Amino acid sequence: MPSPRHRLDALLQRINTATRAAGRSDHVSLLAVSKTQSADAIRALAGAGQQAFGENYVQEAIAKQAALHDLTLQWHLIGHLQSNKAREAAQHFDWVHSVDRASVIDALARHRPDTRAPLNLLIQVNIDAEDSKSGCRPEAIDELAARIAQHGTLCLRGLMAIPTPEHHPQQRADSFSRMQKAFVALRSTYSSIDTLSMGMSADFEQAISYGATMVRIGTALFGPRE
Ligand SMILES: *Cc1c(COP(=O)(O)O)cnc(C)c1O
Repeated sequence: MPSPRHRLDALLQRINTATRAAGRSDHVSLLAVSKTQSADAIRALAGAGQQAFGENYVQEAIAKQAALHDLTLQWHLIGHLQSNKAREAAQHFDWVHSVDRASVIDALARHRPDTRAPLNLLIQVNIDAEDSKSGCRPEAIDELAARIAQHGTLCLRGLMAIPTPEHHPQQRADSFSRMQKAFVALRSTYSSIDTLSMGMSADFEQAISYGATMVRIGTALFGPRE
């Protein structure tokens, strides 16, 4: 297995190549998805220069944050957020990607300490209308965005989606394209919007060609999960 630094450099190279191939001159940021990975594995990647980490479960993240408190890292919650975890999420994360309903917005706003920078939020969109998935309907984006904008302890940064993994590349392209349109529309209304979070190990190059500004990558960086 190549070293963490080698894997990180190789992945950043692929991201850059895909960004240039898409004719883009802006920057695509890497969120290292560290669910199920140890605090030591995160520390090794942090030593190679990676600062932003994504976790799916609040308790798992809090335990790793405690083990890594000597490092300055940026923590993103990317998993489904249950209302009874909103208080801890608001206190322990810098970003939440999985905001999909008004009750969660209000709970995050209430519990974000106003001594801290505003909590950065992405609205998760259920872009393929899957029954089992979290995420809002595309028609609900505007209403949720307006609600986030009412709270001084929150900052609306953009949108997130997980297209159906089983779809063929052409169907996935259609999902990414609809996300890109929704993102551009929202950005024309709110000046704080700069982030379109989409693309994982298997499809990040395609996501970048449809305007992703942040890719969430686990397997291609850490190797397969247990
Ligand atoms: C696990 C996960 C990822 C990363 O998936 P890989 O295929 O390992 O890159 C990205 N986003 C979310 C929401 C995830 O749950």
